[in-house]
Amino acid sequence: MTTEQDIDNTAPGYSGVERRGRPRKKKRAWLFPAIIAGSIVLGGVAYLARQADSWLIHLYRHQIVRELSSMQTRFAATGLSVSELGRVQYDGVWFSLQVARRVQSGARNRLCVFSGVHGNEPASVEAAVRFTELLGKDPSLYPGYNITVVPLVNPWGWARNLRRNGANQDVSRTFYTKPSAEAELVKILLRAEGCDVVVDLHADHAKRPFYVTSYDNPNLAAARALAREVNARGVPLRVGAPDAVFHRNDKDAINNARPNLGLYARRNGAKQVYGVQTPRGLDIEERVAIQLLAIDRLARTAGK
Ligand SMILES: [Zn+2]
Repeated sequence: MTTEQDIDNTAPGYSGVERRGRPRKKKRAWLFPAIIAGSIVLGGVAYLARQADSWLIHLYRHQIVRELSSMQTRFAATGLSVSELGRVQYDGVWFSLQVARRVQSGARNRLCVFSGVHGNEPASVEAAVRFTELLGKDPSLYPGYNITVVPLVNPWGWARNLRRNGANQDVSRTFYTKPSAEAELVKILLRAEGCDVVVDLHADHAKRPFYVTSYDNPNLAAARALAREVNARGVPLRVGAPDAVFHRNDKDAINNARPNLGLYARRNGAKQVYGVQTPRGLDIEERVAIQLLAIDRLARTAGK
């Protein structure tokens, strides 16, 4: 007796019909579930990669993509008073958090600008540094204002283009719980500086439109006008709040899922606090321009 497995398909006269028939059916039976399973796995990996930045740190921890020294050289050259807010240490290396101040005699308001809380948002950092360069070139800008700028809250992450700090923390979520070294330094500054207006510059997902977050501000008109102005440049606004200004009340600060810099600043005396979110999908120069526009428009809310 000959079974199918015993057929010698190299034998003279063998047509191949018997052998081609059944295995091909088996192949198809496996292929479909395999494609489905593969798609689910790939989709899951892609989803996690988009949602969670925390695992990237293990891949890119030692990959430097930006030079801190060149940024610090630029910052020092602005002509403003630059000092060290403090330092954080990772892998045996110290990283400096620097602060620039523009002081005007008789100034009644203080504007405080922060950026680089998330290291993978370079447009915000660029905008803050350019803002200090503008202030250095033209001391007559923003009369009546003392100005404080911390352009790189998370220098370790910025140098690696990673959202998180060297301890794998999202610094923006560490102002009330699980304290980070960077947040502790910023908190010291916020308690002592007497900021009237705080602007915290960020970028959001590539396709998410422009929006502003606000913390218990008495007057949202300036933020809403800013959003409309950005929209007029062709940038879409995020839906869900009037003119894409998402307003949080102070009463939920402690239990807030996002206990960030803005909320801490508001609870510690800052009268007007804004977070500015530009879409990462935009060209970097356009994002820098929008961030500079935001600083300009929101600065003018002081005293109002
Ligand atoms: Zn951010």
